[in-house]
Amino acid sequence: MPELPEVETIIRNLRPALLGKQILSTNLLWNHTLVSPSPAMFKKSIRDQQIQDIFRRAKFLQVKLSTYHLIVHLRMSGDLLVVLGGYQPGKHDRLILQLTDDRTLVFSDPRKFGRVWLVDNPAKIFQTLGPEPLSDEFTSAWLHAALQTQHRQLKPLLLDQSFLAGLGNIYTDEALHMARLHPLTPSDSVTKEEAEILRMSIREVLEEGIRRNGASIDWVYRGGDFQNHFRVYGRQGEPCPVCGTKIERIVVGQRGTHICPTCQALTKL
Ligand SMILES: [Zn+2]
Repeated sequence: MPELPEVETIIRNLRPALLGKQILSTNLLWNHTLVSPSPAMFKKSIRDQQIQDIFRRAKFLQVKLSTYHLIVHLRMSGDLLVVLGGYQPGKHDRLILQLTDDRTLVFSDPRKFGRVWLVDNPAKIFQTLGPEPLSDEFTSAWLHAALQTQHRQLKPLLLDQSFLAGLGNIYTDEALHMARLHPLTPSDSVTKEEAEILRMSIREVLEEGIRRNGASIDWVYRGGDFQNHFRVYGRQGEPCPVCGTKIERIVVGQRGTHICPTCQALTKL
């Protein structure tokens, strides 16, 4: 499942191929991919719209059109690609946009969890999201105060998109290891100093993920290199890069979680 760095990488790759192009026609192959409006209204509204910009909010892609915004969430297996020249729909294609300059934007999604919206105002879709971890809003003072307002285990809280937007299983495990915090640590027991280290760790793993074009851990995301630099994620049984202790896999909130039992000793409950 793509997290913030993977979505950011996809956008950086798509941007030069999409900016300024106009949408000539659409082919919606799986109706459930489109949340709103209706398929008929979507086809009518998006025709002749020009792609003016493309950016990321949390794990969403936001394509700014002349009038509307096309919002895409890739979820488990969604992928977006731009094809030059004639294009024959593939088995897993859910939405195809024919663009000017002989380009085709293809949304393929084998597992069908990905979703697309065409809206006037994207704020409605984004209204429940917490702050962006790479924005100026994400300060250690904010993080410390926000952690104190809840009594939740750290990892599930960091995965909660309404608390902080963009983190998933990989980057949360990596950040908690870097910050030497156990995933089950109660959020309201985190000190100011720990919150500052956690903030820096979250930023550092996300920035490294972006620098390495994300993590390519399955066939959907190509070209990323971050998987070769994981500290703990998926490395159970291997030595911790800091202390050499064997990395363990535990389950936290139904998610496979990777920790160093020495660096991330659970001292508070
Ligand atoms: Zn360790």
